[in-house]
Amino acid sequence: MNAAAPLPTFAPMPDAQGFFGPYGGQLVPPHLKQAMDAINAAYAEITRRQDFQDELAQLFADYVGRPSPIFHARRLSQQLGGAQIHLKREDLNHTGAHKINHCLGEALLAKFMGKKKVIAETGAGQHGVALATACALVGIPCEIHMGQVDIEKEHPNVTKMRILGCKLVPVTRGAATLKEAVDSAFEEYLSNPTDYLYAIGSVVGPHPFPMMVRDFQSIIGREAREQFQAKHGRLPDYVAACVGGGSNAIGMFTAFLNDASVKLVGVEPAGEGTDKPGRHAATLTMGQPGEIHGMKCYVLEDADGQPAAVHSIASGLDYPGIGPQHSYLKDLGRAQYATADDQETLGAFMQLSRVEGIIPALESAHAVAWAMRVAPTLPADCHILVNLSGRGDKDADYVAEKLGL
Ligand SMILES: *Cc1c(COP(=O)(O)O)cnc(C)c1O
Repeated sequence: MNAAAPLPTFAPMPDAQGFFGPYGGQLVPPHLKQAMDAINAAYAEITRRQDFQDELAQLFADYVGRPSPIFHARRLSQQLGGAQIHLKREDLNHTGAHKINHCLGEALLAKFMGKKKVIAETGAGQHGVALATACALVGIPCEIHMGQVDIEKEHPNVTKMRILGCKLVPVTRGAATLKEAVDSAFEEYLSNPTDYLYAIGSVVGPHPFPMMVRDFQSIIGREAREQFQAKHGRLPDYVAACVGGGSNAIGMFTAFLNDASVKLVGVEPAGEGTDKPGRHAATLTMGQPGEIHGMKCYVLEDADGQPAAVHSIASGLDYPGIGPQHSYLKDLGRAQYATADDQETLGAFMQLSRVEGIIPALESAHAVAWAMRVAPTLPADCHILVNLSGRGDKDADYVAEKLGL
């Protein structure tokens, strides 16, 4: 399809120290590094075991409902008049998004490691619900730390976590939102790292988390590559996904890294505009290399060098850091990172709902918005595969109110 220069073959990443080129690593105090190294060793040993692989594959199939289909959005493509848009339907997974993939992996890992409790923080509650679900299934106690401010805002997710039987720990210190919840959850974890497992919600944090979460999510791209090839006898020209921390995107990209003809596009939230500091979360587009949450990666910083305030209409995308592997893929030029703002995202949310009968998560609608913007500029035999990371039930009331529906 295109005459792009041959790409280097991508060696397995990260290296033994957890680096993706200059990014990643373990920028943590020694006692935490020790705990991370223990997780890394157990991960290497356990994920090689056939009984672990078999159990995870079975749960992906019978519990999550994998493989998720690829849907050719014919009416949308026709309406736009250009490239063909296809959707990888992670929105059809049990619990409605891709997060269940790595949460099941982490919960099962905890069980195989003989852990007595899984601990995590949650912001809007999506990670908390997915993890509480996985822990209920696997039969391991789950403890979620959540800022009091977020608890009051995210009623349905809080209720679901309670129903699922996890212990919800309200965090009232400081601003009582995600940052304080992270601190609180880490303190609890470090009180007994032998018996507890910390479960990070994206491809971020110290090694081995960016690698582990990627590996569990890479089922998305493995399925998609095979499904697309079987259906169309070729690979897509573009593969696109929204980027918060980067887990659904890297899960989609990994299988295509060595396919030189496939362009990889991550779509960041431009919020109210990338020219408005604090009102977007376009980390790779507007940030620079730095450190956050135990890793080196691109970071959005304020004038004092602190992680910047961020905003997106999609609460799952408002993070001032980004996975280390995305940071490296950007520098290598292997993936491109574009943006979609709140308005364009709302438009895509509505158009996909009305033309295809699929209500996307506002996070996923960023990737759809990008595809809808470029499709008219491309020929009809060009194929764009978009990872539809989740469904929009959680966003329906908000959007209806916002648009006066
Ligand atoms: C959490 C979430 C995201 C963002 O997380 P990534 O790690 O960047 O994938 C995207 N889409 C949905 C539906 C989510 O719930």
